Amino acid sequence: MKMSKMYIRTLREAPAEAVLPSHIYMLRAGMIRKLVSGVYGYMPLGYRVLRKIENIVREEMDAEGGQEILMSALQPAELWEESGRWSAYGPEMWRVNDRNDREFCLGPTHEEIFTDIIRKEVSSHRQLPVILYQIQTKYRDEARPRFGLMRSREFIMKDAYSFDKDEAGLDESYKKMYDAYGRIFTRCGLDFRPVEADNGAIGGSGSHEFTALADNGESSIAYCEACNMAATDESAVCKDAEPSDEVMLPMEEVFTPGTKTIDAVAEYLGMDKKQTIKALLYETYDDDMKVNGYVAAFVRGDREVNELKLANVLGVAEYAIAFADESKMAEITGCVGGFTGPRGLKNCKVVVDSELTGLKNLCAGANKADHHIKNLNYERDYTADIAANIKMIKEGDPCPVCGAPVKMTRGIEVGQVFKLGTKYSKPMGAVYKDQNMKEHDIVMGCYGVGVSRTFAAVVEQHHDDDGIIWPPAVAPYHVIITVVKANDDVQMSLAEKMEAELAKQGIEVMLDDRDERPGVKFKDADLIGIPVRITVGKRAPEGIVEYKLRKESEKTELTADEAVKSAIEFIMQEINVR
Ligand code: ATP
Ligand code: MG
Repeated sequence: MKMSKMYIRTLREAPAEAVLPSHIYMLRAGMIRKLVSGVYGYMPLGYRVLRKIENIVREEMDAEGGQEILMSALQPAELWEESGRWSAYGPEMWRVNDRNDREFCLGPTHEEIFTDIIRKEVSSHRQLPVILYQIQTKYRDEARPRFGLMRSREFIMKDAYSFDKDEAGLDESYKKMYDAYGRIFTRCGLDFRPVEADNGAIGGSGSHEFTALADNGESSIAYCEACNMAATDESAVCKDAEPSDEVMLPMEEVFTPGTKTIDAVAEYLGMDKKQTIKALLYETYDDDMKVNGYVAAFVRGDREVNELKLANVLGVAEYAIAFADESKMAEITGCVGGFTGPRGLKNCKVVVDSELTGLKNLCAGANKADHHIKNLNYERDYTADIAANIKMIKEGDPCPVCGAPVKMTRGIEVGQVFKLGTKYSKPMGAVYKDQNMKEHDIVMGCYGVGVSRTFAAVVEQHHDDDGIIWPPAVAPYHVIITVVKANDDVQMSLAEKMEAELAKQGIEVMLDDRDERPGVKFKDADLIGIPVRITVGKRAPEGIVEYKLRKESEKTELTADEAVKSAIEFIMQEINVR
């Protein structure tokens, strides 16, 4: 297609709010445009990329026997009440009422809807297994929409749901989807890792996240080179330190002026941070997001709290717990900012990390300004409402599987697969009859790919200082033919001849015939990131052109025929990686 006729507007600079390269380049290359915070539209080039990703997803789902359907984004509250998630889902759910005040939501996910379809239409074991999927727009009123398509409030997800007779069937469906995900992200050109994950609000008994490795990613992964363990930091188990067999020393209150942090108190008292106890103060919320309780969580001084694990042991949703307003909490519980310890708090839940129960003679805040208590021992000096593993794994901690030191890396969660079991089928009555007419709950799995987030992740991994470098399989066009002088008939006719030859082989070509300086055209081609650039310039009368791959700096002069042949070979080879 001729660029002079295309609807493309590139920008020299992106708005200041764009900080990640992917967000900056997608805006600058004119791929997406923002409507309001967390809501974007796809412009022609961006929409082509999106459809290519969708088609890769579609092909791989179909290859595993998935069948595509399309359900509405609008979902009636009643179905969510049946599963118990109408109140459990929290403020991320986009709730709307119709003119008769009937409640709906704009679906953040579709477990209830697919379960409803199946329970109405499946009754016999002969109809199972089934895998249904859709590629559809989801809505989540994210607390902090950011990074463009990476965390938006409206986004495109592929969600698949499997329905099996039993756990063994679920294991098979899960493996099919897991394998398909590997092929999807490979074909999209991503460097990714499947990692063990928490089931979160979706529920169920087993889960993996597919994480595209990226320094800017919001997910943190713990992995072990000795045994191949890989898990999200939230789900990885951080092992307790060995219990100590030291003799318990007498408790002692000490004056520690101004030592509000662990670093400060450890330095002041000349102790290792591992001998101290760190306090983290939280408040919890009811369904109307009003504060309904306080929680003081304690971990060893050199550790951090894993808030997901904390929420899980408290039995509250992740959104229903956050750092407390300390002055209010102090009035009610007796905690003292910077000097809070587990001994002597009132009107709050005390949650102590399991490891602290085995360690001896630790130092914690005295719940009194400028004072700490030394030689504090669990049971003798303080107890907990809950003692459980609530600590976050970090670089160098022992691997929960083999004990070798773990490494940490960051990434973007592009997909997640879950074993749901009967979490939805049981409350919603999705059952089938076996050969003996005996009824069983259908066993389910669910599988999501963030299609629009994958778009952003590909750009995050494939760019340089000049712009995007598309892997050919998801590039908006494969080849750009840049005509140096568009009003030169010889140059234009050679370019058009090459375009026609490439198109015949299914290669998608952009022909830059704009009346711009060559420098502007090259800059745009680099920014947009088309994998192959063929420049037609002053040697056109001899049939010679310049051939360059976006990912390489080297340019070569070839005959037009050779350039066409090289482009076809390169694109075909790259697209067929499976
Ligand atoms: P996150 O932890 O990043 O909020 P999630 O675990 O809540 O995501 P899932 O329910 O697993 O998300 O949804 C399936 C996929 O949808 C995710 O793996 C991710 O790729 C994508 N996704 C989720 N939330 C968003 C969002 N706000 N914007 C874009 N993509 C998203
Ligand atoms: Mg997820």
